[in-house]
Amino acid sequence: MTKANGEAFVQIRNLRKDFPIRIGMFSHVRLRAVDDISFDIPKGATMGLVGESGCGKTTAGRCLLRLIEPTSGEIRMGEHNLTDLKSEQVAQMRGRMQMVFQDPGGSLTPRMTIGAILREPLDLHTNLNAHEKDQRVRQLLSQVGLQPDHLTRYPHQFSGGQQQRIGVARAIATHPDFIVLDEPTSALDVSVRGQILRLLTQLQEEMGLTYLFISHDLSVIKHTCNQVAVMYLGRIVEIGSTEDIFGSPAHPYTQALLSAVPIPDPAQRGKERLKLPGEVPSPIDLPPGCRLYSRCPYRRDACLEPGPPLLQVGESHKAACILVDENVRLGGGNTPAALSQLA
Ligand code: SF4
Repeated sequence: MTKANGEAFVQIRNLRKDFPIRIGMFSHVRLRAVDDISFDIPKGATMGLVGESGCGKTTAGRCLLRLIEPTSGEIRMGEHNLTDLKSEQVAQMRGRMQMVFQDPGGSLTPRMTIGAILREPLDLHTNLNAHEKDQRVRQLLSQVGLQPDHLTRYPHQFSGGQQQRIGVARAIATHPDFIVLDEPTSALDVSVRGQILRLLTQLQEEMGLTYLFISHDLSVIKHTCNQVAVMYLGRIVEIGSTEDIFGSPAHPYTQALLSAVPIPDPAQRGKERLKLPGEVPSPIDLPPGCRLYSRCPYRRDACLEPGPPLLQVGESHKAACILVDENVRLGGGNTPAALSQLA
């Protein structure tokens, strides 16, 4: 994990993304995939965005880079308000903000050689001459641990781990400031995941990169991120430092996510665990108030009121649960047992 300075470099405020969903021949309903999320990422830091499949984390990541248009909200990167930029201006900024995709094979054009794939962003976003581009492409291969003779090969001639190294090389080609890493290791064999994570950390240190790391894998998030935001059905339900989220999770959903992680240490296996019953509700038929209501063992009538907002748990630790507010005021711990005392 890279140390970061505290100044916000990426700032997200009240970001929303709606998709129209067609129902029958003539009517539509609105699916709110991302609902009013806000967070900051300091320069050189990694923010983890974690949650189950379908919680809106990938949609949020794509909105941040304006690969898809947000419905409302503000996205700032350094001195730029990205939401104010026209599409031509966003295209000019593209070299400064990049994405590494989950499926490395699918994200590389199969008919292009690796040399052509790495040269493409240099053609689009830099003024380098042909010789400088050749030098940069060779430097990129070396930076990600590949060999010069790989330049003339095609994506299918590489393993999944090597394909992801090529994806990373393409993302850093134009010296970006900010990269969204969308499940960058989840399609890889366990044996190569650590290598890719070490490569990403090394490049972050060398280049001062700021990352948004999207993952459903809590162990990866724990070892790579400075801060973590937990999403459920489009909303951030808890946000804090990695120590806060993993050491004293305050929201029942975060506690349930952590409870589902296998515990390798036999001495720790007796620890209290929280399981949520039932299924995740349909995102086009959401419950009023807290979205965890139908599955939460601590629910009460007040949870059906609009909200709850993110409430302060610690200095930079917030959770969207009314019991957390009561618990903090009463000076209790954030364990499931402490919360159940309040329920
Ligand atoms: S607000 Fe209520 S339903 Fe939601 S997580 Fe807290 S206790 Fe559970």
